[in-house]
Amino acid sequence: NESERLQKVMANAGVASRRASEKMILAGNVQVNGKIVEELGVKVAPTDLVVVNGKALEREKKVYYLFYKPRGVISAVKDDKGRKVVTDYFKDIQERVYPIGRLDYDTSGLLLLTNDGELANKLMHPRYKVGKTYVAKVEGIPDNEIFKKLRLGIQLDQRKTAPAKTHLISADSKKKTAIISLTIHEGRYHQVKRMLEKVGFPVKKLKRESYGFLTLAGLNSGEFRKLTQEEIKRLK
Ligand code: URA
Repeated sequence: NESERLQKVMANAGVASRRASEKMILAGNVQVNGKIVEELGVKVAPTDLVVVNGKALEREKKVYYLFYKPRGVISAVKDDKGRKVVTDYFKDIQERVYPIGRLDYDTSGLLLLTNDGELANKLMHPRYKVGKTYVAKVEGIPDNEIFKKLRLGIQLDQRKTAPAKTHLISADSKKKTAIISLTIHEGRYHQVKRMLEKVGFPVKKLKRESYGFLTLAGLNSGEFRKLTQEEIKRLK
């Protein structure tokens, strides 16, 4: 029996938070199998039809994927310019998944995709600060002063970035480029590129190596795998 409380089913489908879903139930905006449910505590089975504000909920099984996004792919489910999108890689799976957050078109690396609206909302919320590690190839070779600045925070749009971890991985003194690692906990617009640009080391190439405890280990560019039950539990 996979019955779950109505407000949980609604939250899982991305309707609203559990609390807000409870209010919608109490307000008489939710129907189960054609009947308005106005009290809390009602459980529904996966086969029950749930209608919220006149719209049927999609009740797919929740799936979670870890994808190694190649460069040159948009982090969206469709693109009006016809460019390749991440979900083009997921055409053979039944569920309709979408990315949790985004990576730039020219950034490669770890991207999670799911149809679990509740988890997606939670992980994308600014309060829920997952550490994301990027490896960047930059123009120029940053010295310790630069790394110190990056660690302490960089002023972007009138607001300093939160403390970051960063270190030099390697430097090419002939080409005057360096590979550095940078771990941030926010997800501001083009954050890594803008932080490095601001200290005078423009990014030539960017890759996200990890998201929280998850890494790209075992995957090649363009490949994905399902998260394990254990990993899903840890993310939640
Ligand atoms: N920071 C960026 O600038 N780009 C990304 O794709 C991710 C983080």
